[in-house]
Amino acid sequence: MNDEKCELPTRTNTIGLSMTPTLYRFRWKGRAGYEYTRCGADLLLNGLRADLEGEAKCPVCGTLTRLVIADGKIDGLDPGDAMIHVVEVPAGRGRIWIECEPTHIFDRRSCYEQWSLGYNGKKGLVATIRDYHDRLKEKRPSKQRLPEEKPKGGVSKRK
Ligand SMILES: [Zn+2]
Repeated sequence: MNDEKCELPTRTNTIGLSMTPTLYRFRWKGRAGYEYTRCGADLLLNGLRADLEGEAKCPVCGTLTRLVIADGKIDGLDPGDAMIHVVEVPAGRGRIWIECEPTHIFDRRSCYEQWSLGYNGKKGLVATIRDYHDRLKEKRPSKQRLPEEKPKGGVSKRK
């Protein structure tokens, strides 16, 4: 499973959807039931598409990092200094792949440091959740902007 990668975006509604429980779960705002994603970055990527509440379990100590994303912004983050380690692989034409296996969210830096001692894989990017989220927002090509909701009660003029 070492070569397992998430393509961005996948054809499914949920990026990186996992049918089996993982360390990362979330629910879309207004929808019942949790979905699992294959890595920590998927929580943030899905949050660029729609509002959600996510939970990431630290692979070292098991502490949950809770994350609320609304309007493409981080609306809640606990603990606030949670970290992410992400292995990004350029996939041409501005696309990126994320290697899921070593991409984790840690509740604190010391957990990342402890984990990295036993990790011999590809060195990834280490950032706070907020910084990485900002980075994803910048990367997202404007063409992939989310469909805008029609204003309520608005009259749509078409020809
Ligand atoms: Zn931890």
